[in-house]
Amino acid sequence: MGRFISDKFKKLKAYVPGEQPRGTEYIKLNTNESPFPPSPLVIKALGEKEVSRLNLYSDPTAQTLTDALEKYYDLQKGSAFVSNGSDESLAFIFHAFCDSKKRIAFPDITYGFYPVFADFFGIEYKKVPLDRDYRIRVSDYSDISDNVIIANPNAQTGIYLEPEEIEELVSQRSDRLVIIDEAYIDFGGKSAIPLINKYDNLIVVQTFSKSRNLAGMRIGMAFSDPGIINDLNTLRNSFNPYNLDRLAILAGTGAIEDRSYFEECTGKIIRTRENTVKELEKLGFYILDSKANFIMAKSKLISGGELYGTLKERGILVRHFDDERIRDFVRITIGSDSQMSALISECKKITDGRKEI
Ligand SMILES: *Cc1c(COP(=O)(O)O)cnc(C)c1O
Repeated sequence: MGRFISDKFKKLKAYVPGEQPRGTEYIKLNTNESPFPPSPLVIKALGEKEVSRLNLYSDPTAQTLTDALEKYYDLQKGSAFVSNGSDESLAFIFHAFCDSKKRIAFPDITYGFYPVFADFFGIEYKKVPLDRDYRIRVSDYSDISDNVIIANPNAQTGIYLEPEEIEELVSQRSDRLVIIDEAYIDFGGKSAIPLINKYDNLIVVQTFSKSRNLAGMRIGMAFSDPGIINDLNTLRNSFNPYNLDRLAILAGTGAIEDRSYFEECTGKIIRTRENTVKELEKLGFYILDSKANFIMAKSKLISGGELYGTLKERGILVRHFDDERIRDFVRITIGSDSQMSALISECKKITDGRKEI
């Protein structure tokens, strides 16, 4: 840190995203992006006509996109909020609804950005351990009066909670907010969005980065009771009213309107995931039950760190977390069939003939 940094940020540790290599051509299975291009409707919408209008500000209400989202999920007006990636929605939510009195709780293994946001905004947090099988136990949260954030499917495990379990979590107490981060919900899970019609203490956050093939466009959204959405808009308008640019608003609207392309892409990822799990299990890997576009895999024949390093030397980038509870695993994003064939064949070569460690 330089000598002018404010005292409040002297200890800040930034979030470290997965590598985005330049130069070397890797098979990139480390940041849960889609292997498929955006919908043809998105590519068409971003034509010369809109680019030539970039001299003008974007619509600060992003109305075409929020309308499309409310229609898609059959919600009343004012239920959808959009942001520059869902990370920005999360930042506004932490900032708006947590403070020194209302802290936040989340699982010990989850998305690494939650503690970073908490530190950034000076919010204390509590980590609730996953059980031995890496599952979230909803009953562990019943005595917590702080706000709760859960990724469903959970980040780093891929393990999914059914809507009934989410409803139990939300209805345990009405004196706190429950935030469900559904970045991975479209790969076989059922969204909790319908529950926002029934509970005013639930916020559901989603993103265009994974299941809608638009990580580079930076669009995220939150769904909740219109009162909560209004608060989020008040913060947004006090910070960066044009958080979505003209191209992002059109790209997001195009992606939401192309339901069949979305279903085709997510369907392919789900099939490829099931196939990859089967093939890796044949090689003796243990894999957590995933409903996401990634899997957590470990082998008795090689440590997580060594497997990550060896795959990287061989041109395949996966993710390794040096966290005690998941250090034996590597996290593998589900790519195209041919990318996964390459991964499986390298894993076979790497583990062949090894003894248990
Ligand atoms: C990828 C991810 C996000 C962030 O997505 P962006 O919309 O790209 O900012 C949020 N939460 C979880 C759990 C994620 O995995």
